[in-house]
Parts: sequence; C-alpha cells; structure tokens
Amino acid sequence: MERFLAKASICFMLYLTIMKNLRSAYFAVLFCLLTANPLFAQTTLVHAGTVLAVPGEKPLTNQTIVIEKGKISEIRSGFVSAAQLNLASDQVTVIDLKEQFVMPGFIDMHTHITSERDPNANPHEWTTLFDEDAAFRAIPYAEATLNAGFTTVRNVGGNYKLMLALKRAIAAGYVEGPRIITATGAVSATGGHGDDHGYRPEIMNAFETNVAICDGSDDCRRAVRALVKQGAEVIKITATGGVLSNTAAGVGQQLTDDELKAIVETAHSLGRKVAAHAHEADGINAALRAGVNSIEHGSYLNDESVRLFKETGAYLVPTLLAGVSVTEELETNDNIPPAIAGKIRQVGPVVEASFKRALKGGVNIAFGTDSGVSKHGTNAREFELMVNYGMDENEAIRSATLHAAELLGMKDSLGSLEKGKWADLVAVDGNPLQDISELRNIQFVMKEGTIYKQRDTN
Ligand SMILES: [Zn+2]
Repeated sequence: MERFLAKASICFMLYLTIMKNLRSAYFAVLFCLLTANPLFAQTTLVHAGTVLAVPGEKPLTNQTIVIEKGKISEIRSGFVSAAQLNLASDQVTVIDLKEQFVMPGFIDMHTHITSERDPNANPHEWTTLFDEDAAFRAIPYAEATLNAGFTTVRNVGGNYKLMLALKRAIAAGYVEGPRIITATGAVSATGGHGDDHGYRPEIMNAFETNVAICDGSDDCRRAVRALVKQGAEVIKITATGGVLSNTAAGVGQQLTDDELKAIVETAHSLGRKVAAHAHEADGINAALRAGVNSIEHGSYLNDESVRLFKETGAYLVPTLLAGVSVTEELETNDNIPPAIAGKIRQVGPVVEASFKRALKGGVNIAFGTDSGVSKHGTNAREFELMVNYGMDENEAIRSATLHAAELLGMKDSLGSLEKGKWADLVAVDGNPLQDISELRNIQFVMKEGTIYKQRDTN
C-alpha cells in the first residue's frame, strides 16, 4: 500500500506541473492510473504439492510456480513467499494447491465446439433455429471444455462464422472457454464427407455456397486459399468418407492423390498445417504420402501407414471417444439414418486394433476426442480409453500437452510449465500417473494466469 501511495503522490505532482498542457495532463493521469494501480504489477504464486512441469519427466514436490502477466516467470523449489521474492504482500496473490497434483492445461486437437450431437433432439430442429441460437448454445460447450481442464482446443469443423466469433469472444473475455485454434470449412470432394447430404436438391441449393468443396487439383488449391481467406488457422480435409455424413458412400479414399498433393502444397505455402480426416488405409496412406501433418481418426491404419507416419513424422489424432460414443448411441437411438448406422457398425469395432498398431509402431500420437460427437466436457474420457488400449499414463498426458503443442506449432508457449510459457494450469487431487481416471475430476483450472475453476478443498 505504501508503494501505491508513494507512486500516487509522485503522479499527482507530475500532473500539477504539466496541467497547463491539457493533452500531456491526460496522458500523465492515464500513466499514473496504470502504474500506480497495485493490480497492475500483480504476481501470482502457486504453491503446488506436486508438479508435472514437463510431462514425461519426474514430477517435483513442493514447488512454487511464479506467474506474471499470464506467463510463467519461474518455478522455484519450496513454497516461496512474497518477501523471498522482494515483493510487498499486496502485490502478490498466493494460490494454495499444496494438496494437489498440478499439470499443464490440456490440449484437445479435434473438437467441434460449436455443436453437440443430441440423440433426443427433433431432427428437423435445424430448419427453425437461427445461427444466433447456435451461438448461445456454444457458450456452455466452451465453458464445459475449459472446466474439464482443456485450456486449448483445435477446432476442426462447424459453422465457420460462429467458430471465429466464439474464438474472438473467448479471447476478449466475453465468454469463458479454451483458447481456440480453428479450421473453418473442411476441404472435401463434391458429394464427399464434408459436403451436404440427405435433403432434396432445392433445399441443398438454398445453403450458402461451401467454398471448401472442390474437384481436381486446381480447384482444390482454390478451396485452400478460400479457407485461408475466411480465417482458417489450420486446413481440415476429408481424405476419406466419414461415419456421420448421411450418405452410403463408405469410408474409403475420396480426395485423389493429385488433389491431396495440391492441397498440402498450397496449405504449407500459406503457413497452414493440414489435418486429414481419414478412416480406410488407402486414404490414410495417400494423405500421408501427400505430406499432411496429422491423420484424424485413422481407423484402419495398416503396416504401410505406420511406416509412412514414421517416415514423415506426421501425428495420429485417434479420437477413440468418437468411436465409442457413436457405438453406445447406436444401442439406444433408433433415429440414426441407415446410411450412418451401417458405417458405425463398420468402423466402431476396428478403432481399438488400429490404435494398438500405431502404439506398437511408435507413431507420434496427439490427443483428440471429436467432442461434439461426444458431450463437451467429457474430453478426459479419451485418456482412459488410451490407457485401457495399452498406452502408458505418462504418454497419454504427453499426447495432450507436449505432443499436441508440437503439432499446433506452439511449443514455445504451450505444452509444459516452463519459463516464458502461458500459465495454463490444471490440478487434480490424486496422482493421474497411477490412476488416469483422476483426470475426470479436475479441481483447478487456470488459463493465462486467470483462475476459471477452483474447488474449495478445505
Ligand atoms: Zn471430427
């Protein structure tokens, strides 16, 4: 408080000396308000009982994470006080996580955060809703995702204006949610997984032209450029058919080898990575040969796929939760169209074997759930599926932190708790390296130094 008063009086004198010049006085007052405000120079000290600062390394006990302006400035051994950092107590906020296990915030590389499948919804509801209805519904999805410990998501499909608006609203603080890195549309062949299906032509003709639908390599170059123009930060493509599009066209290769090459070349030349939705091996392998950065789902990957993953360094984003949740839904929901039900029966049972093949082959794996297919906020169930299918707990956590940050191209700011990175922290009561299901019970969430969830544990 003394520092605050000292600064305030210096500022007042400064104001008096230059008050003849109104404009300078205005700036002087502004300067004083900013610098004299004790909140401005606030430092946060997180006293953490156990910290997995760099997933894969040994957790450390009794540490202090020092946070300034949303970033980690250092991690010190022991529970350090304000005085030990030569700071006045009113300049410091201390957060007590002495009983908790603290980790970097998680990253989900495959979400559809603006929508959620609802088996009980009226299938014709979309004909009556406004885009604004969808926008309001997206708010609790974003909140649920952040509360589940996911401080960053890569969003790979949905209403692109809504996605971009939600990203901006979260970044500006209007809505609580994860940091979003987003694709806009998904590059798809005419009639492919990313196209519209299942309505009479007059209705489909009324939809806004989808710039991402393309045929032939030149047209697919145009599609990538159009998506970048829309604001895509990553290029999502549908290399093969998909389960939830209402067309009985299978889940094999849909974009040709030439189209895939043109897409990847154009995206990379514009500084965008390519995330390829792919189920059957022909499409997975063609996409890998074309140089995509990740394969999403990868349901039928074979030995050649494993070889290509290793050769190119591409990541697999397995989305096991999507396979499990649509298979569960099929048992209770009689309204699933036959074309979709057939593909669920085909793909659902094979994802486990494919994941195990990738794991055994040493493929790079980044965490992704396909949330929106499953309920937002249940993202951590993916960790349990990965571990049940043979992945080590440490590796599962690495997939959602360091590996995901690497695939995003953001490892300088995300993925571990180290000096200079964003203060994105989550905490649980137990030890997730011993019981991965602990990650379903997130007790504490901080994003860029701001607390969004804090359970009273006393
Ligand atoms: Zn998806």
